[in-house]
Amino acid sequence: MPKILVIGSSNTDMVVKTSRFPQPGETIIGGEFFLFPGGKGANQAVAAARMGGQVDLIAKVGQDIFGQQAIEGFAHEGINVAYVMSDPKLASGVALITVDATGENEIVVAPGANAALMPGDLDRDDAAFAEADLVLMQLETPLETLLHAAQKAHALNKKFVLNPAPAQDLPAELYSLLFLITPNETEASLLTGIELDNEAALPKIAEALLKKGVANVIITLGAKGAYFHNASQQFKIPAPKVQAVDTTAAGDVFNGALAVALAEGMDWPQAIDMACRAGAIAVTRMGAQASAPFREELG
Ligand code: ADP
Repeated sequence: MPKILVIGSSNTDMVVKTSRFPQPGETIIGGEFFLFPGGKGANQAVAAARMGGQVDLIAKVGQDIFGQQAIEGFAHEGINVAYVMSDPKLASGVALITVDATGENEIVVAPGANAALMPGDLDRDDAAFAEADLVLMQLETPLETLLHAAQKAHALNKKFVLNPAPAQDLPAELYSLLFLITPNETEASLLTGIELDNEAALPKIAEALLKKGVANVIITLGAKGAYFHNASQQFKIPAPKVQAVDTTAAGDVFNGALAVALAEGMDWPQAIDMACRAGAIAVTRMGAQASAPFREELG
């Protein structure tokens, strides 16, 4: 079984449906309320576990009901929770989400304990890094921790994959530590300052990322699939055609599945095809972690 180390956020998504958004100062009566486990780190860990990966998760939650439920959920998925820390002084990360009648959403994230995942937290136990075939991270926890994780992985000669979401500028010294970066179209544009208005921009953006020091680039293209680019090969893999119901966490499921495929030693086209198939199934279902498919569903 390939061993994947996921480092990142765990949130609880609290969703209320409403006919319209309230004005500032206004109270309105909404509709149904839903509670979903979320956070990009946790979503990717669950996706990787369901794909057959042996997953260690390094994350931080609070000692409250949400953190407790998150840990129980991870354990239920077969994820090793030995490195999930719970801080007695902090609240677990939550996302307050309202969805109006048109499907538009407004989201406020309170990162809570996620913002307190510090570089030192990665040094408490080196077994997770030492045993990993591949390390996967995102951008919902502090950048200094990301940089430290990438340096640790590099020193141990481990493949380090960054899904740069949600989009933000990255420290220049990070890029040369990355085996792979997996932005979506918006993130790819933001990282390079190159507008992605047509297909011809894809190689330009990928080249700009290679020039910054990344070894391999995958730009995810939603329903269009994914584009791969490194120094020796460039190609596009189409996504299976599906009826999308909820695109939440498509990128997370893509990255979790990709991590397992690469750790299993698949070549780039095979690995990206598996990730595209997993992402396509995820968009046909509601929810974030709930929508991640199991390996046997890929056919
Ligand atoms: P993000 O969710 O991070 O914005 P994308 O929208 O690019 O990322 O989706 C990630 C991957 O999920 C895509 O590369 C594709 O494989 C799959 N995917 C996303 N949307 C669809 C869709 N409508 N139909 C089929 N596959 C999809």
